Amino acid sequence: MRYDIAIIGTGPAGLSAALTAKKRNKSFILIGSRHLSVKVEKAHLIQNYLGLPSVSGEELKKAFLAHLDAEQIAITENRVSQVFAMGDYYALQLGEDIVEATAIILATGVVTGKTFPGEDALLGRGVSYCATCDATLYRGKDTAVIGYSAKEEEEAAFLAEIAGSVVYYPMYKEEPALPENVKVLREKPVSFAKDGRKVVLTTDAGEAVYDGVFVLRDAISPGTLVPGLETEGAHVPVDRRMATNLPGCFAAGDLTGLPYQYAKAAGEGNVAALSAVSYIDQLKKA
Ligand SMILES: Cc1cc2nc3c(=O)[nH]c(=O)nc-3n(C[C@H](O)[C@H](O)[C@H](O)COP(=O)(O)OP(=O)(O)OC[C@H]3O[C@@H](n4cnc5c(N)ncnc54)[C@H](O)[C@@H]3O)c2cc1C
Repeated sequence: MRYDIAIIGTGPAGLSAALTAKKRNKSFILIGSRHLSVKVEKAHLIQNYLGLPSVSGEELKKAFLAHLDAEQIAITENRVSQVFAMGDYYALQLGEDIVEATAIILATGVVTGKTFPGEDALLGRGVSYCATCDATLYRGKDTAVIGYSAKEEEEAAFLAEIAGSVVYYPMYKEEPALPENVKVLREKPVSFAKDGRKVVLTTDAGEAVYDGVFVLRDAISPGTLVPGLETEGAHVPVDRRMATNLPGCFAAGDLTGLPYQYAKAAGEGNVAALSAVSYIDQLKKA
């Protein structure tokens, strides 16, 4: 099946886009997590979201989920590892599956921080951003996971069922809850290098050699996610319709630039969905 719209990301931008797509009777897939967004979950006190004068991130998340449930909007719990522009549609890689959509809305949030030295060069050559997609390449092999939030533990646990060994580097304070065969190391990764077929990971405590290293951030850089997409640093330039340089590809929320705010993200998600609807309607007319 080909959807009208694929929405990537379950922060306020993606959720608002999904709500608008639903109201405009388009078929769509919303890809992300029932956790929604770490940036929503973690907020201590929010005082500038219209209609909710003083709420915690947890409360805002509950309100968002209740709204989705009331509209019977389902979240496909997965991570998009790559998007391919196919001409008049897009193909999205979700784990081992491919999903097709006429238009896409990128609502992935912004990637803060740079990649590690050596990381970009080793991407696809020992470094991966998706354990569910690439775990089978490392059957019986020695692997490491650098996890930027607790939700990445699920991917590490999945990898541990397939790989020979998994070392987990948590990049957050909470104690990871992982299967016994996953070793947790509280070391700070510094850089990557290639040694033959292996990856050498240098940390603040020394060097370790792995067959594969999975770097699991909340979002991967937009240019890596969608080859051919124009970017400006961590951001994606858009016009007032939230259109990117690729026909049928729209972006919304933190990804499009400052200010980083819930209301701006939700507003842009709404505009992006309306623009995607017009794009699809025009294609159908043509
Ligand atoms: C601690 C904290 C407090 C804040 N307080 C406020 C405040 O009081 N008021 C305010 O207005 N703003 C506040 N902000 C800013 C606000 O959180 C962001 O502006 C907002 O969350 C951006 O929404 P978004 O939808 O663009 O992206 P995000 O909320 O970052 O959501 C993007 C989602 O997409 C998912 N995703 C990324 N890549 C993929 C992929 N390839 N496949 C599937 N899913 C993917 C991510 O995992 C994430 O869940 C705060 C931020 C933080 C961190």
